[in-house]
Amino acid sequence: MACGLAAWLHLRCGLSRSATGKVLKVMEIMVVTALNLGAALVRLSHPAANVSTSPRFSLPHDIRTAMSVLSIEPNIIRSICCPKCYTKYAIADMPQVCLYKETNRSKPCNEKLWTTRITKGGPRVVPCRLYSTQDFESWLEFFLLHPGVEELIDKSYAHCPSSDNMHSIWDSPAWRSLGSFTTTHGNLTFSFYIDWFNPFTNKIAGKSASCGAIMMFCLNLPYELQCLPQYTFFAGITPPPHEPSVTTITALSDSIVDHLQAMWQGKKIRTHRHPDGALKRVAVLPTIGDLLAIRKLLGFAGVASHNFCSFCTLQRSEMDNLDYESWTKRTGADVLAGAMEWKSATTKKDRKAFFKKNGVRWSSLHRLTYRDPVQHTVLGVMHNWIEGILQHQARVKWGIGIIPAAQGNENADEAISATPPSSPLPFNKLDLDVEMLDEEITALYEESRQYQDRPEHVKRLHSQASFFMAEQQLEGGHDDADESPNDDEFFPGEVSDTDTEAEADDNLEAWKAVCIFDSTSLAMIRQCLSDTVIPSWLERPPVNLGEKRHGKLKADQWLQLFTVFLPLILPEIWLAESNPRHTALLSNFHDLVACTNIVCSYSVSSASADLYLYHFIQYRKSSKILFPNVNTRPNHHYAMHNADLMKFWGPLIKLSEFPYERHNGNLQKIKTNSHMCKSPTLFESGLH
Ligand SMILES: [Zn+2]
Ligand SMILES: [Zn+2]
Repeated sequence: MACGLAAWLHLRCGLSRSATGKVLKVMEIMVVTALNLGAALVRLSHPAANVSTSPRFSLPHDIRTAMSVLSIEPNIIRSICCPKCYTKYAIADMPQVCLYKETNRSKPCNEKLWTTRITKGGPRVVPCRLYSTQDFESWLEFFLLHPGVEELIDKSYAHCPSSDNMHSIWDSPAWRSLGSFTTTHGNLTFSFYIDWFNPFTNKIAGKSASCGAIMMFCLNLPYELQCLPQYTFFAGITPPPHEPSVTTITALSDSIVDHLQAMWQGKKIRTHRHPDGALKRVAVLPTIGDLLAIRKLLGFAGVASHNFCSFCTLQRSEMDNLDYESWTKRTGADVLAGAMEWKSATTKKDRKAFFKKNGVRWSSLHRLTYRDPVQHTVLGVMHNWIEGILQHQARVKWGIGIIPAAQGNENADEAISATPPSSPLPFNKLDLDVEMLDEEITALYEESRQYQDRPEHVKRLHSQASFFMAEQQLEGGHDDADESPNDDEFFPGEVSDTDTEAEADDNLEAWKAVCIFDSTSLAMIRQCLSDTVIPSWLERPPVNLGEKRHGKLKADQWLQLFTVFLPLILPEIWLAESNPRHTALLSNFHDLVACTNIVCSYSVSSASADLYLYHFIQYRKSSKILFPNVNTRPNHHYAMHNADLMKFWGPLIKLSEFPYERHNGNLQKIKTNSHMCKSPTLFESGLH
């Protein structure tokens, strides 16, 4: 218990190693004193009893020893890598600069691999960057040695899939897409999640860095237990401060995929029921993450590319196409063939040409040949639907929180002129949600860098987006300026100026959005938010909705807003008088809520998935009429695929990013004293 308390103080409360050591010493003194007192009392009352005068008791004085007593220290594999391309090196024969070549005919990377660091023992030459991953086999043993875990896992093998309504992935065709693998005793099926977070918290201004967490959940566990930290495999954290690029990510994911490849063949692992070991095989089924992360991981083209969709071959210019049945769906075989073409190309030029043609490049995960790169990729409900579609509806289409409408639409022009578009300030003042536009802004930023474009460039002078980006640069908010130039391909040059301007217009349009609600309606909405009686576990969105003061809404709050509060009050507002526009707005909102209820539902059927697609197409059609100036975003297109995804995976909310994001949030809170990018102490502690 004492070791447990010390580990908690050190790991959770951030108490330093030396202070935790002192706590352990004090606890030892307390226990020894108590034991001595007890022994003295026994001697007093039973003088004849043979009680030892000094009971033997000791605690480890070093928290590292205490943690090894608890067996909670994970087996971390630390390897040295190039800070730029992440190529792995062995300490024994590491050159001065990185010799990695992207293709046989490319120039070597040439990044400096060593640095001098001042330590207590004087200056030391140490590797610039380390990459840490957790050993999968030792974690699997830790996981399966938990008493009761195997019994929980057995439930997945004993599960009888329900014929129509799917309640979890166990009911889904996806679960059966690996043949009998998922239902064979002893086999384990995992999800694979990747996303980046800023370890210096999410501030736009100030220090910025990016860490990528790679996590896996065991999907054989009942849904509510999958996300528990003790059952989560934290595969690795990509080295800060920069995100890997579309090509360098392979070097980071390769070492994890090596383990996964070996575990697909199977290995003998010790478990609680089989202390001598039993054969375990592991597969990875869904890959989960936000759009950018998943595209990067799986080698798909970025959202700004012509080949912008990983599910179908529609081009970006066809984003408004609603004839879903006519679309050509991508197949896993095509994607793999395209990826192989890219990989086998010997020059960067050829790679670029193949990428332009196929919209795919090589990904480490393609080495897991049992996976289908198209089918086994999930579109995250949280990023795509809640933060993509719902937030866009509130902020851009309805203009909530953008410009408070004094008198409704009639004063729209006045409202706009009150905040001249040439001023960069409104972005901060009006709290235009930055994350909502993140994808577009990142794409624009990369493009502008590629064309050596500057905010003062004549083409950009009219665009607010460039002012915003310039601001971010000034504040150091976007810290990926020195990312590998390979990322050009992620936001490819093939995007024409017209596309670029359309994107800039998207941002401008968000900026110019006018609130469709007048002050009376807004007051009614706020009153509904404050007066509605809700269960205590439900989080109430800010009651001053639309004011800057409440800050950014969490994904969960957007969901509550659209599924609980707005359906209570908007019909009242829009049906108050006979107004055709209000009726149309209500119908548009109804379609959106119907879709939200289905896509965020904990059970789904083929019929409800079809109903989703029907309402979503209706929603997109009426949106075009009601909000003709609001451009379609890639998320609107991707969401068209949700119907098929639901039919394949079952309820998507059960594969959402929420639990992984919570882990990311906890990782973000770990106190590192800003030392996360340095490696000296690790260097001394045994490298692989
Ligand atoms: Zn390198
Ligand atoms: Zn598509």
